[in-house]
Amino acid sequence: MAFLKLIFLIFILHSFMPIPISSTPSLNKEVFAQIRPDFLDFAKKPEIMDWMVGIRRKIHENPELGYEEFETSKLIRAELDLMGIPYKYPVAVTGVVGYIGTGKPPFVALRADMDALAMEELVEWEHKSKVPGKMHACGHDAHVAMLLGAAKMLQEHRNDLQGTIVLIFQPAEEGGGGAKKMLDAGALDNVDAIFALHVSTKFPIGVVASRPGPILAATSFFEAVINGKGGHAALPQHTVDPILAASNVIVSLQHLVSREADPLDSQVVSIGKFQGGGAFNVIPDSVTIGGTFRTFSKESFVQLKQRIEEVITKQASVQRCNAKVIFHENSSYPVCFNNKELHEHFRKVAGEMLGVQNVVEAVANMGGEDFAFFSEVIPGLFFFLGMKNETQGPLQSGHSPYYTVNEDVFPYGAALQASLATTYLSENPPKHTSPPEGSFHDEL
Ligand SMILES: [Zn+2]
Ligand SMILES: [Zn+2]
Repeated sequence: MAFLKLIFLIFILHSFMPIPISSTPSLNKEVFAQIRPDFLDFAKKPEIMDWMVGIRRKIHENPELGYEEFETSKLIRAELDLMGIPYKYPVAVTGVVGYIGTGKPPFVALRADMDALAMEELVEWEHKSKVPGKMHACGHDAHVAMLLGAAKMLQEHRNDLQGTIVLIFQPAEEGGGGAKKMLDAGALDNVDAIFALHVSTKFPIGVVASRPGPILAATSFFEAVINGKGGHAALPQHTVDPILAASNVIVSLQHLVSREADPLDSQVVSIGKFQGGGAFNVIPDSVTIGGTFRTFSKESFVQLKQRIEEVITKQASVQRCNAKVIFHENSSYPVCFNNKELHEHFRKVAGEMLGVQNVVEAVANMGGEDFAFFSEVIPGLFFFLGMKNETQGPLQSGHSPYYTVNEDVFPYGAALQASLATTYLSENPPKHTSPPEGSFHDEL
């Protein structure tokens, strides 16, 4: 009996050891075909899962807004240090760029965003946000945990990689254009392709969704101050009413999409802000309106932007008001475009891991993502990672104060990212010349 116990103990201990995936010094397609299914098993191991969950919960408790992700970034760097992964820091204030592999081409990137939202968490749970007015309500805490999970697997195979996997931890996705700043700082120099996931409450766990071509819209925000002449509401003849002017402006703006745009070219103009006046019997001096517009092509974006300005200023003048329009250029995102070949690659890799029936075609929507900055300059692929589980009850959609993440999704996200990158390297020969030796360091 004692002998059987010993055998059992050895078996248990062995099952908790890292899976020896390969010791082959140089990797070929066949070897990686063998490794990829192991990635999911590896990521599902309790100690790996618990580690990812622990990271996510720590970040969730201490949410940080765009360009303020100092503690999040510190935690990421501490984990990279523990894994022995070299990185650049700071990139775009709080961003971190890690490198796994040969340090030579080809380079393929995986991206996670780090920022939280300025809102109050209303979910009552052990790891609720400890920072008033800030919450991870879009799942970016989960994205960081899953990319670190992928990094762990990839680092175990660093000697097998035929190229370099670049880990992009970016700040300020939620309106701050962190991706643009990462680009400007050279985070994607020499990188041939980039992948990113976003957790989704729409698809079931184990299902992923994407589509070739545009997947999310080009987005921008605008604000207009409409100036009139305030006075007594009983004597409108002595005033120039900016409330009436703003109302007409808003109605006219709605004609841009319904009357000027091609009905088959999706566009949106929405006004979400209308501020003016404070008393029942006073016509105010000015009104401020603000809104967003979205399109699926650069041309429509330029055209719509120009018409919004014209309509606001000219329509305001009909009511004898002056209007000034400001476009928030820093929070303008281009169309998020998925490269066709990378989408095929995604379908193949995800299909092998999850089953082809679990790789579905996403419907494009008018939301925006600053991953668009990356996929504008190099081939990119953005996909949704389903995390819905009916038996655990419904999940609230992103940006809800009741938003929760189904942490069971972590192994899928980690393993898929690792697989997408390794398969990309094994199937794509170098395109660029090697960067100079020592061109990246532990700290910049
Ligand atoms: Zn969001
Ligand atoms: Zn998000």
